[in-house]
Amino acid sequence: MKAVQFRAHGRGPELVTLPDPVPGPGQVLLKVTAAGICHSDLSLMAAEPGTLSFAPPVTLGHEAAGVVEELGPGAAGVAVGDAVAVYGPWGCGVCRACAAGRENYCPHAAALGIRPPGLGSPGALAEYLIVDHPRHLVPLDGLDPVQAVPLTDAGLTPYHAVAESRHRLPPGSTAVVIGVGGLGHLAVQILRALTPARVIALDVTEERLSLARSSGAHEALLSDDAAPAALSGLTGGTGAAAVYDFVASPATTALAAGAVAADGHLAVLGIGRGSVPVAFGSLRPGVTVTVPYWGTRQELLDVLALARAGRLSTRTETFSLDQAPEAYRRLSEGGIVGRAVVVP
Ligand code: NAD
Ligand code: ZN
Repeated sequence: MKAVQFRAHGRGPELVTLPDPVPGPGQVLLKVTAAGICHSDLSLMAAEPGTLSFAPPVTLGHEAAGVVEELGPGAAGVAVGDAVAVYGPWGCGVCRACAAGRENYCPHAAALGIRPPGLGSPGALAEYLIVDHPRHLVPLDGLDPVQAVPLTDAGLTPYHAVAESRHRLPPGSTAVVIGVGGLGHLAVQILRALTPARVIALDVTEERLSLARSSGAHEALLSDDAAPAALSGLTGGTGAAAVYDFVASPATTALAAGAVAADGHLAVLGIGRGSVPVAFGSLRPGVTVTVPYWGTRQELLDVLALARAGRLSTRTETFSLDQAPEAYRRLSEGGIVGRAVVVP
Protein backbone atom coordinates (compact mmCIF):
# COMPACT_ATOMS: atom_id res chain seq x y z
CA MET A 1 0.00 0.00 0.00
CA LYS A 2 0.96 3.67 -0.34
CA ALA A 3 1.87 5.49 2.88
CA VAL A 4 3.48 8.76 3.95
CA GLN A 5 6.30 8.34 6.44
CA PHE A 6 8.65 10.34 8.61
CA ARG A 7 11.69 8.21 7.76
CA ALA A 8 14.65 10.01 9.34
CA HIS A 9 15.44 13.10 11.39
CA GLY A 10 16.17 16.11 9.24
CA ARG A 11 14.05 14.80 6.35
CA GLY A 12 10.51 15.77 5.43
CA PRO A 13 7.58 13.41 4.89
CA GLU A 14 8.09 10.84 2.13
CA LEU A 15 5.67 8.79 0.04
CA VAL A 16 6.57 5.08 0.26
CA THR A 17 5.14 1.67 -0.65
CA LEU A 18 4.68 -0.78 2.23
CA PRO A 19 3.26 -4.30 2.48
CA ASP A 20 -0.50 -4.32 3.17
CA PRO A 21 -0.89 -4.76 6.96
CA VAL A 22 -2.60 -7.85 8.44
CA PRO A 23 -4.56 -7.50 11.71
CA GLY A 24 -3.15 -9.54 14.60
CA PRO A 25 -5.13 -11.00 17.53
CA GLY A 26 -7.69 -8.47 18.85
CA GLN A 27 -6.81 -5.87 16.20
CA VAL A 28 -8.99 -4.27 13.53
CA LEU A 29 -7.89 -3.38 10.00
CA LEU A 30 -9.43 -0.19 8.58
CA LYS A 31 -9.48 0.98 4.99
CA VAL A 32 -8.67 4.65 5.58
CA THR A 33 -11.31 7.07 4.25
CA ALA A 34 -9.75 10.28 5.62
CA ALA A 35 -6.70 11.32 7.64
CA GLY A 36 -5.97 14.75 9.10
CA ILE A 37 -2.64 16.58 8.98
CA CYS A 38 -1.70 18.19 12.30
CA HIS A 39 0.88 20.84 13.15
CA SER A 40 2.27 18.42 15.77
CA ASP A 41 3.66 16.28 12.92
CA LEU A 42 5.89 19.21 11.95
CA SER A 43 7.27 19.39 15.52
CA LEU A 44 7.82 15.63 15.41
CA MET A 45 9.81 15.80 12.18
CA ALA A 46 11.80 18.82 13.48
CA ALA A 47 12.70 17.11 16.78
CA GLU A 48 16.34 16.47 17.67
CA PRO A 49 17.35 12.80 17.35
CA GLY A 50 16.86 10.97 20.65
CA THR A 51 14.23 13.39 22.01
CA LEU A 52 11.20 11.39 20.84
CA SER A 53 9.77 8.34 22.62
CA PHE A 54 10.18 6.34 19.38
CA ALA A 55 12.53 6.28 16.42
CA PRO A 56 11.61 6.83 12.77
CA PRO A 57 10.60 5.45 10.34
CA VAL A 58 6.92 5.78 11.23
CA THR A 59 3.84 6.26 9.08
CA LEU A 60 2.35 9.69 9.94
CA GLY A 61 -1.29 10.57 10.67
CA HIS A 62 -2.94 10.58 14.10
CA GLU A 63 -6.38 11.72 12.93
CA ALA A 64 -8.11 8.75 11.31
CA ALA A 65 -11.46 7.73 9.85
CA GLY A 66 -12.08 4.53 7.95
CA VAL A 67 -14.25 1.56 7.14
CA VAL A 68 -13.71 -1.77 8.93
CA GLU A 69 -12.03 -4.07 6.38
CA GLU A 70 -11.11 -7.10 8.49
CA LEU A 71 -11.16 -8.27 12.12
CA GLY A 72 -8.12 -9.98 13.61
CA PRO A 73 -8.59 -13.25 15.54
CA GLY A 74 -10.76 -12.61 18.62
CA ALA A 75 -11.61 -8.99 17.76
CA ALA A 76 -15.31 -8.25 18.31
CA GLY A 77 -17.74 -5.38 18.69
CA VAL A 78 -17.49 -3.93 15.18
CA ALA A 79 -18.43 -5.42 11.83
CA VAL A 80 -16.85 -5.37 8.38
CA GLY A 81 -18.18 -2.29 6.56
CA ASP A 82 -18.72 -0.12 9.67
CA ALA A 83 -17.74 3.53 9.12
CA VAL A 84 -15.76 4.71 12.13
CA ALA A 85 -13.51 7.40 13.60
CA VAL A 86 -10.44 6.40 15.62
CA TYR A 87 -9.78 7.45 19.21
CA GLY A 88 -6.02 8.08 19.09
CA PRO A 89 -4.51 8.41 22.60
CA TRP A 90 -4.43 4.70 23.33
CA GLY A 91 -3.86 3.65 26.94
CA CYS A 92 -3.38 0.32 28.68
CA GLY A 93 -7.17 -0.04 28.90
CA VAL A 94 -7.27 -1.33 32.47
CA CYS A 95 -5.85 1.30 34.87
CA ARG A 96 -7.86 3.92 36.77
CA ALA A 97 -7.36 6.61 34.11
CA CYS A 98 -8.36 4.21 31.31
CA ALA A 99 -11.38 2.97 33.28
CA ALA A 100 -12.63 6.57 33.29
CA GLY A 101 -12.07 6.83 29.53
CA ARG A 102 -9.12 9.15 30.19
CA GLU A 103 -6.73 7.00 28.16
CA ASN A 104 -4.99 10.24 27.11
CA TYR A 105 -3.59 10.35 30.65
CA CYS A 106 -2.79 6.61 31.04
CA PRO A 107 0.40 6.52 33.12
CA HIS A 108 1.37 3.08 31.80
CA ALA A 109 1.06 3.44 28.02
CA ALA A 110 4.61 4.66 27.34
CA ALA A 111 6.26 1.99 29.50
CA LEU A 112 4.13 -0.69 27.83
CA GLY A 113 5.19 0.55 24.37
CA ILE A 114 1.60 1.57 23.57
CA ARG A 115 1.77 4.57 21.24
CA PRO A 116 -0.89 6.45 19.27
CA PRO A 117 -1.22 5.76 15.55
CA GLY A 118 1.01 8.24 13.71
CA LEU A 119 2.89 9.10 16.91
CA GLY A 120 4.92 5.90 17.22
CA SER A 121 2.51 3.27 15.89
CA PRO A 122 1.82 3.13 12.13
CA GLY A 123 -0.49 6.04 11.30
CA ALA A 124 -3.40 6.91 9.03
CA LEU A 125 -1.58 8.53 6.12
CA ALA A 126 -1.84 5.24 4.29
CA GLU A 127 -4.41 3.13 2.49
CA TYR A 128 -4.88 0.85 5.51
CA LEU A 129 -4.52 1.31 9.27
CA ILE A 130 -4.24 -1.23 12.09
CA VAL A 131 -6.19 -0.29 15.23
CA ASP A 132 -5.04 -2.14 18.35
CA HIS A 133 -8.48 -2.69 19.92
CA PRO A 134 -12.14 -2.24 18.84
CA ARG A 135 -12.78 0.08 21.83
CA HIS A 136 -10.76 2.76 19.99
CA LEU A 137 -13.42 2.87 17.24
CA VAL A 138 -16.40 5.24 17.37
CA PRO A 139 -19.23 5.01 14.81
CA LEU A 140 -19.41 7.96 12.42
CA ASP A 141 -23.20 7.47 12.29
CA GLY A 142 -23.75 9.50 9.16
CA LEU A 143 -20.94 12.05 9.55
CA ASP A 144 -18.86 12.70 6.44
CA PRO A 145 -15.36 11.26 7.07
CA VAL A 146 -13.52 14.29 5.63
CA GLN A 147 -15.50 16.71 7.80
CA ALA A 148 -15.33 14.44 10.85
CA VAL A 149 -11.72 13.29 10.86
CA PRO A 150 -10.28 16.56 12.24
CA LEU A 151 -12.67 16.19 15.17
CA THR A 152 -10.59 13.25 16.45
CA ASP A 153 -7.77 15.63 17.46
CA ALA A 154 -8.30 19.22 16.23
CA GLY A 155 -11.81 18.98 17.72
CA LEU A 156 -11.20 16.58 20.63
CA THR A 157 -8.23 18.51 22.09
CA PRO A 158 -10.01 21.87 22.43
CA TYR A 159 -13.21 20.05 23.48
CA HIS A 160 -11.29 18.48 26.36
CA ALA A 161 -9.65 21.80 27.33
CA VAL A 162 -13.01 23.60 27.33
CA ALA A 163 -14.92 20.77 29.03
CA GLU A 164 -12.46 20.80 31.93
CA SER A 165 -12.64 24.60 32.36
CA ARG A 166 -16.20 25.54 31.36
CA HIS A 167 -17.20 26.15 35.01
CA ARG A 168 -14.84 29.14 34.80
CA LEU A 169 -16.92 30.70 32.03
CA PRO A 170 -20.26 31.94 33.39
CA PRO A 171 -22.48 34.45 31.58
CA GLY A 172 -20.64 37.74 31.16
CA SER A 173 -17.19 36.12 31.17
CA THR A 174 -14.58 36.26 28.41
CA ALA A 175 -12.60 33.44 26.79
CA VAL A 176 -9.54 34.08 24.64
CA VAL A 177 -8.38 31.76 21.83
CA ILE A 178 -4.83 32.33 20.52
CA GLY A 179 -4.21 30.75 17.09
CA VAL A 180 -7.19 30.08 14.81
CA GLY A 181 -5.78 27.11 12.88
CA GLY A 182 -6.94 23.49 12.78
CA LEU A 183 -7.52 23.34 16.54
CA GLY A 184 -8.33 27.02 17.14
CA HIS A 185 -11.21 27.39 14.65
CA LEU A 186 -12.92 24.42 16.32
CA ALA A 187 -12.08 25.79 19.79
CA VAL A 188 -14.06 28.94 18.98
CA GLN A 189 -17.09 26.89 17.89
CA ILE A 190 -16.83 24.60 20.94
CA LEU A 191 -16.68 27.58 23.32
CA ARG A 192 -19.80 29.01 21.64
CA ALA A 193 -21.59 25.65 21.88
CA LEU A 194 -20.66 24.79 25.50
CA THR A 195 -20.45 28.17 27.23
CA PRO A 196 -22.14 31.58 27.30
CA ALA A 197 -18.75 33.34 27.30
CA ARG A 198 -17.80 36.14 24.94
CA VAL A 199 -15.04 34.75 22.68
CA ILE A 200 -12.05 36.82 21.55
CA ALA A 201 -9.77 35.14 19.00
CA LEU A 202 -6.30 36.20 17.88
CA ASP A 203 -4.22 35.24 14.86
CA VAL A 204 -1.66 36.81 12.57
CA THR A 205 -3.54 37.15 9.25
CA GLU A 206 -6.84 38.74 8.22
CA GLU A 207 -7.89 35.48 6.49
CA ARG A 208 -7.66 33.66 9.84
CA LEU A 209 -9.45 36.46 11.67
CA SER A 210 -12.22 36.08 9.13
CA LEU A 211 -12.31 32.30 9.86
CA ALA A 212 -12.49 33.18 13.58
CA ARG A 213 -15.53 35.41 12.99
CA SER A 214 -17.30 32.85 10.80
CA SER A 215 -16.57 30.27 13.53
CA GLY A 216 -18.46 32.44 16.02
CA ALA A 217 -15.84 34.69 17.65
CA HIS A 218 -17.36 37.92 18.97
CA GLU A 219 -14.06 39.74 18.45
CA ALA A 220 -11.06 38.85 16.27
CA LEU A 221 -7.76 40.67 16.78
CA LEU A 222 -4.34 40.64 15.19
CA SER A 223 -1.81 39.00 17.51
CA ASP A 224 0.70 41.86 17.41
CA ASP A 225 2.36 44.36 19.75
CA ALA A 226 -0.98 46.09 20.28
CA ALA A 227 -2.77 42.87 21.34
CA PRO A 228 -2.04 43.05 25.12
CA ALA A 229 -3.54 46.55 25.38
CA ALA A 230 -6.47 45.58 23.14
CA LEU A 231 -7.28 42.55 25.33
CA SER A 232 -6.96 44.64 28.48
CA GLY A 233 -9.32 47.24 27.02
CA LEU A 234 -11.89 44.64 25.98
CA THR A 235 -11.91 43.12 29.49
CA GLY A 236 -12.08 46.40 31.43
CA GLY A 237 -8.49 45.93 32.58
CA THR A 238 -9.28 42.75 34.52
CA GLY A 239 -8.29 40.08 31.96
CA ALA A 240 -10.12 37.01 30.62
CA ALA A 241 -11.52 34.18 32.75
CA ALA A 242 -9.98 31.56 30.45
CA VAL A 243 -7.21 31.72 27.86
CA TYR A 244 -6.46 28.85 25.44
CA ASP A 245 -3.08 29.17 23.71
CA PHE A 246 -2.94 27.03 20.55
CA VAL A 247 0.47 28.43 19.56
CA ALA A 248 2.48 28.62 22.79
CA SER A 249 5.44 30.44 21.27
CA PRO A 250 7.40 32.73 23.61
CA ALA A 251 5.33 35.66 22.26
CA THR A 252 1.94 34.03 22.76
CA THR A 253 2.63 32.55 26.20
CA ALA A 254 3.65 36.07 27.35
CA LEU A 255 0.43 37.43 25.83
CA ALA A 256 -1.62 34.65 27.44
CA ALA A 257 -0.03 35.06 30.88
CA GLY A 258 -0.76 38.80 30.82
CA ALA A 259 -4.33 38.28 29.60
CA VAL A 260 -5.62 35.79 32.18
CA ALA A 261 -7.73 37.28 34.99
CA ALA A 262 -7.37 36.71 38.73
CA ASP A 263 -8.80 33.26 39.61
CA GLY A 264 -8.68 32.52 35.88
CA HIS A 265 -7.52 29.56 33.82
CA LEU A 266 -4.71 29.32 31.29
CA ALA A 267 -4.46 26.25 29.05
CA VAL A 268 -1.19 25.86 27.14
CA LEU A 269 -2.05 23.63 24.16
CA GLY A 270 0.47 24.55 21.45
CA ILE A 271 3.92 23.01 21.17
CA GLY A 272 5.70 26.27 20.34
CA ARG A 273 8.58 26.26 22.84
CA GLY A 274 7.12 29.12 24.88
CA SER A 275 6.54 28.75 28.62
CA VAL A 276 4.45 30.37 31.32
CA PRO A 277 6.23 31.63 34.44
CA VAL A 278 4.44 30.09 37.42
CA ALA A 279 5.54 31.98 40.54
CA PHE A 280 3.82 34.20 43.04
CA GLY A 281 3.45 37.60 41.38
CA SER A 282 4.18 36.39 37.83
CA LEU A 283 0.47 35.81 37.14
CA ARG A 284 -2.64 37.39 38.65
CA PRO A 285 -3.54 35.63 41.91
CA GLY A 286 -5.44 32.36 41.82
CA VAL A 287 -4.64 31.50 38.20
CA THR A 288 -4.46 27.81 37.28
CA VAL A 289 -2.21 26.73 34.40
CA THR A 290 -2.75 23.42 32.60
CA VAL A 291 -1.13 21.56 29.72
CA PRO A 292 -4.03 19.50 28.35
CA TYR A 293 -3.22 16.55 26.11
CA TRP A 294 -5.72 15.33 23.48
CA GLY A 295 -9.03 14.18 25.09
CA THR A 296 -11.03 11.36 26.64
CA ARG A 297 -12.98 8.58 24.93
CA GLN A 298 -16.23 10.01 26.23
CA GLU A 299 -15.36 13.46 24.89
CA LEU A 300 -14.78 12.00 21.40
CA LEU A 301 -18.36 10.68 21.49
CA ASP A 302 -19.51 14.12 22.66
CA VAL A 303 -17.64 16.09 20.02
CA LEU A 304 -19.01 13.83 17.24
CA ALA A 305 -22.52 14.25 18.67
CA LEU A 306 -22.05 18.03 18.64
CA ALA A 307 -21.11 17.81 14.95
CA ARG A 308 -24.17 15.62 14.22
CA ALA A 309 -26.31 18.29 15.89
CA GLY A 310 -24.95 20.78 13.33
CA ARG A 311 -22.97 22.80 15.88
CA LEU A 312 -19.48 22.22 14.41
CA SER A 313 -18.32 23.01 10.93
CA THR A 314 -14.78 22.00 9.99
CA ARG A 315 -12.90 24.05 7.40
CA THR A 316 -10.97 21.52 5.33
CA GLU A 317 -8.79 21.36 2.25
CA THR A 318 -8.34 17.88 0.78
CA PHE A 319 -5.23 16.25 -0.66
CA SER A 320 -4.34 12.82 -2.09
CA LEU A 321 -1.62 10.66 -0.45
CA ASP A 322 0.76 11.70 -3.25
CA GLN A 323 0.05 15.35 -2.37
CA ALA A 324 0.54 14.91 1.40
CA PRO A 325 4.19 16.09 1.43
CA GLU A 326 2.96 19.25 -0.35
CA ALA A 327 0.22 19.68 2.30
CA TYR A 328 2.87 19.52 5.06
CA ARG A 329 4.99 22.08 3.20
CA ARG A 330 2.00 24.43 2.91
CA LEU A 331 1.15 23.92 6.61
CA SER A 332 4.73 24.78 7.65
CA GLU A 333 4.52 28.01 5.65
CA GLY A 334 1.20 29.04 7.18
CA GLY A 335 -0.57 28.25 3.91
CA ILE A 336 -3.42 26.03 5.20
CA VAL A 337 -6.59 27.66 6.52
CA GLY A 338 -8.48 25.18 8.71
CA ARG A 339 -7.37 21.53 8.44
CA ALA A 340 -5.61 19.67 5.61
CA VAL A 341 -7.24 16.26 5.14
CA VAL A 342 -5.79 13.43 3.07
CA VAL A 343 -8.19 11.18 1.20
CA PRO A 344 -6.21 8.07 0.17
P1 NAD B 1 -2.17 25.19 12.73
O1 NAD B 1 -0.89 25.46 12.05
O2 NAD B 1 -3.32 24.68 11.95
O3 NAD B 1 -2.67 26.52 13.48
C1 NAD B 1 -1.82 27.39 14.17
C2 NAD B 1 -2.42 28.79 14.03
O4 NAD B 1 -1.69 29.68 14.88
C3 NAD B 1 -2.33 29.35 12.64
O5 NAD B 1 -3.59 29.86 12.24
C4 NAD B 1 -1.30 30.47 12.75
O6 NAD B 1 -1.51 31.54 11.86
C5 NAD B 1 -1.51 30.88 14.20
N1 NAD B 1 -0.39 31.63 14.78
C6 NAD B 1 0.94 31.48 14.55
N2 NAD B 1 1.65 32.39 15.28
C7 NAD B 1 0.73 33.10 15.99
C8 NAD B 1 0.82 34.17 16.94
N3 NAD B 1 2.01 34.68 17.28
N4 NAD B 1 -0.33 34.63 17.48
C9 NAD B 1 -1.53 34.11 17.14
N5 NAD B 1 -1.68 33.11 16.25
C10 NAD B 1 -0.56 32.62 15.68
O7 NAD B 1 -1.83 24.21 13.94
P2 NAD B 1 -2.80 23.15 14.67
O8 NAD B 1 -2.70 21.84 13.97
O9 NAD B 1 -4.11 23.79 14.93
O10 NAD B 1 -2.02 22.96 16.06
C11 NAD B 1 -1.91 24.04 16.97
C12 NAD B 1 -0.90 23.69 18.05
O11 NAD B 1 -1.44 22.71 18.93
C13 NAD B 1 0.40 23.08 17.51
O12 NAD B 1 1.49 23.57 18.28
C14 NAD B 1 0.20 21.61 17.73
O13 NAD B 1 1.44 20.91 17.84
C15 NAD B 1 -0.53 21.62 19.05
N6 NAD B 1 -1.35 20.43 19.38
C16 NAD B 1 -1.44 20.11 20.70
C17 NAD B 1 -2.25 19.06 21.10
C18 NAD B 1 -2.39 18.73 22.54
O14 NAD B 1 -2.85 17.64 22.87
N7 NAD B 1 -2.03 19.63 23.45
C19 NAD B 1 -2.96 18.33 20.13
C20 NAD B 1 -2.85 18.69 18.79
C21 NAD B 1 -2.05 19.77 18.43
ZN1 ZN C 1 -4.23 2.99 31.37
